[in-house]
Amino acid sequence: MRTGSLAGKTALVTGSTSGIGLAIATAMAQQGANVMLNGFGEAAEIESLRAGIEKQFAVKALHSPADMSKPAEIAAMVRAAEKNFGAVDVLVNNAGIQHVAPIEDFPAEKWDAVIAINLSSAFHSMRAAVPGMKKRKWGRIINIASAHGLVASAQKAAYVAAKHGLVGLTKVVAIETANDGITCNAICPGWVLTTLVERQIENRAAASGATVEAEKLALLSEKQPMHAFSTPESIGALAVFLCSDAAATITGAAYSIDGGWTAQ
Ligand code: NAD
Repeated sequence: MRTGSLAGKTALVTGSTSGIGLAIATAMAQQGANVMLNGFGEAAEIESLRAGIEKQFAVKALHSPADMSKPAEIAAMVRAAEKNFGAVDVLVNNAGIQHVAPIEDFPAEKWDAVIAINLSSAFHSMRAAVPGMKKRKWGRIINIASAHGLVASAQKAAYVAAKHGLVGLTKVVAIETANDGITCNAICPGWVLTTLVERQIENRAAASGATVEAEKLALLSEKQPMHAFSTPESIGALAVFLCSDAAATITGAAYSIDGGWTAQ
């Protein structure tokens, strides 16, 4: 028999082929949940992640290749999870991309892509998954926003707009589902060392001529009083907590896990 706080539940985690999403999916599986993975990558690598999760945690894992910029594919992914596992009990909207440029140079197509993947995809997935959660009187929705959902930085127009929008959308869904056994919360990480951030550090090092290590510290100290990256695993642990009975009345919240970034 499977044990764990999420035994018998199903978790769908968007953008879970790497970084924070993969850590969240792994944490959910560790608690006994079946998981629907999603995201891009090499087919063989994704298959090895999927099979690895099944083997390590004795749960079922599937991968949906749905593109989070395509509403029809998002709806089909939710339907596929419901069909294969019987439900989507936990929905984690995590897929995200970044583009850094001043407003006057920000390519319109990059704006559209960031808004689609970081914000609209959560609207489409929640719209598709909430009816089943309401029917079963249980659901946990976790939207991975960012410190940039609460405060801004220069050159991140689309990302900051999308993440602020995602925090607002989280509150709306929390209010609408408050008496349906469903909670909807946002997690707002500061810096986490994933490919999304490694790319920014490499670009900074290329521009400044400084080492990657020096740029890592510079990146952290510009924003965070605590000069340390949060780990993907710590975000997975917070997501698991938000699914627990102890968190049953936490809804509409935006949880910072950011080394003090937004305390300033
Ligand atoms: P990552 O680049 O490691 O992972 C992003 C995931 O999203 C990958 O699985 C990728 O395949 C997937 N993805 C990208 N575009 C997609 C699309 N169109 N359709 C489906 N999947 C797509 O990045 P990460 O740092 O793990 O970021 C995960 C989330 O955490 C993002 O929403 C990001 O904004 C947020 N976040 C990250 C940090 C950080 O410091 N890394 C901080 C705050 C918030």
